[in-house]
Amino acid sequence: MIYTIDMLIEKIISGERTYDLERITSAYELAKVAHDQQTRDSGEPYISHPVAVAYILVELGMDTDTICAALLHDVVEDTDMPLKTVQDKFGEDVALLVNGVTKLDLLTSASTIEEYKAENVRKMLLAMSQDIRVIIIKLADRLHNMRTMDAKPEQKRRDKAHETMEVYVPLAHRLGIRAIKEELEDRSFYYLDPVAYAEIERALAIRKDARESFIESIKSKIAERICDIQPPPQIDGRVKSLYGIYKKVYIAGRSFDEIFDIYAVRIIVSTVIECYNVLGIIHDMFRPIPNRFKDYISTPKTNMYQSLHTTVIGREGIPFEVQIRTWDMHYTAEYGIAAHWKYKAGISGKDKLEERLAWLRQMIESQQETDNPEELVHAIKSDLAPEEVFAFTPKGDVISLPAESTIIDFAYAIHTEVGHKMTGAKVDGRIAPLDYQIKTGDIVEILTSKGHTPVRSWLNIAKTNEAKSKIRSWFKRERREENIKEGKEELEREFKRNNISLPADELESFIADIAKRQHCETVDDFYAAVGYGGIILSRIISRIKDDYSKLMAAKRQENEPQLPIITPARSTKDISGIVVEGIDNCLVKFAQCCNPLPGDDVIGFITRGHGVSVHKRDCANVRAGLNNPDSTGRWIRVHWADNVQTHYRCTLDIVARDRTGLLADISMALTSIRVPIHELNARELKNGNANLVITIGIPSVEQLKSIIQKISKVDGVLQVERSGK
Ligand code: MN
Repeated sequence: MIYTIDMLIEKIISGERTYDLERITSAYELAKVAHDQQTRDSGEPYISHPVAVAYILVELGMDTDTICAALLHDVVEDTDMPLKTVQDKFGEDVALLVNGVTKLDLLTSASTIEEYKAENVRKMLLAMSQDIRVIIIKLADRLHNMRTMDAKPEQKRRDKAHETMEVYVPLAHRLGIRAIKEELEDRSFYYLDPVAYAEIERALAIRKDARESFIESIKSKIAERICDIQPPPQIDGRVKSLYGIYKKVYIAGRSFDEIFDIYAVRIIVSTVIECYNVLGIIHDMFRPIPNRFKDYISTPKTNMYQSLHTTVIGREGIPFEVQIRTWDMHYTAEYGIAAHWKYKAGISGKDKLEERLAWLRQMIESQQETDNPEELVHAIKSDLAPEEVFAFTPKGDVISLPAESTIIDFAYAIHTEVGHKMTGAKVDGRIAPLDYQIKTGDIVEILTSKGHTPVRSWLNIAKTNEAKSKIRSWFKRERREENIKEGKEELEREFKRNNISLPADELESFIADIAKRQHCETVDDFYAAVGYGGIILSRIISRIKDDYSKLMAAKRQENEPQLPIITPARSTKDISGIVVEGIDNCLVKFAQCCNPLPGDDVIGFITRGHGVSVHKRDCANVRAGLNNPDSTGRWIRVHWADNVQTHYRCTLDIVARDRTGLLADISMALTSIRVPIHELNARELKNGNANLVITIGIPSVEQLKSIIQKISKVDGVLQVERSGK
């Protein structure tokens, strides 16, 4: 669909808000000239895009400056127009907004995708802290790009959808802009799992009439009972978003028919007292489901969302959710931070805005303590997670924390010094361990004593980035020598565990290379960073292992000619996908000790009577065998056939923080990329972690990397390894 300036103007005129139409039109003219002959991938004239972005922002009720900046948001980056021109014609504010949006798009020199993403997020946070409207424009920009993503190639769609889910959806959620958040979610979901999307869409289409009449009948029943409230409340009914349903299907593992809350009814009234009155009436009319009532009016969510939520059972035992709120709360729920511009009168000015942005400032402060960009992306994901709990100090102050936060997080959320000096805590008057997970409604009293200092193991207990970075920065400041020693020992342990061993001089340069890549000036700096937790070994170990294998492969190459390996003359292929050089139709089996996969460097061993057994080149048994004079002449060159199609079984060893929904999330991650699971075993470890051993089917070793990456991204997963190395 092509957006034109006439559509934009019509939208503006039909709304209640007054805009400076003259400025907006001249911003359009300038953008149109600048983009001139450019077209989008869809073939539409480029100008359609900035106009569409402006249109979305008018719907959100943003101000004239924002609309002008939206129309001009791509000119500095994509055309030769300098920022100065924008500034001269539209003033400082618009220029700052355009510049902010432009900067967010510039590629950095970062070397990995994670780093690149982290760098982008960092810039986004900084831009937001200067003017939050920058990010609102960026969200609208992304929304329109997602709406027109069909014109892009497959890989690009998935990448963008992924990025949208990881960065933009949590931001929209934090800013409380529900309309944008839900649409971004649904559109990303459409590209990430088209099959599931179609399934849910189809399921919703069936019995659509019955569904609509169900909602209508509930609405009219409720309307009848609350008809004496003046002015009359507004009652809306709807089916929840596709992605919302998808999450429930997977997380709860229920069939489509069993999901709660497919239906939601919203009742908007004038006063807070009416909210509670209506709630009473609803509970009188329908049977409430226990433990499903949430009072977000007395304890708002951190994105300032307020409402009463309850789930009740209606006709034929069909459950539905009821949300009750005032109009003020409604504007905040729909437009979030944007309501500040849209309904300025309804919200008490700057204070509320400041309050809303407190989390943002906190995140920027705490991320400045983080040297590692991958850590930052992780932090964004976990700190922006929608689930949160509310607990109280003994004085009654509300502290809100991400779900699963512990006493340590609570203490640091009160004050850094309270955290540092903590010796213990009481929950509801009783002594509780530091790893106690805070529940909503807990009254938590932190016990402190003068001269007490943090303990390193707190890092493993704390959940929030804020607490962790405060603990780390304490150690970073106070204990350098200790950190170096600690970091060195940790690295040695990690090397031992992964069978990384090198002669002393090679080891030194190997570690120096790692340190350099982690942006440490000296090896001691690197050790110190590992010691205080600024660099987390488990996050970089797989890359270190890759480097190590490369190094070993290079060393092997040098020694190659001395190895007693048969080099036969001609080749033939076995159905296993393995070509045994020089032997026709020979029996091939894969060694149990290392389970080679296509793409692995492999070698064969001629067994007595069982054909050729194929090992990975770096399998410990191969290393031992090649040095064993008894097996001389039995090692044989093999390689993978070009067109391997069979699925191979591969076993992954996963260590993760034990939590509810972990298994579901991991299997969802695998299912979403169509990886079959053959076997799955899970057990609890003593330290509160869980160990999962999963056997999956994969076509080749190339795919394995992306599977491991995918699993590593599941919340709580600490380590993923292919077993049988
Ligand atoms: Mn754009």
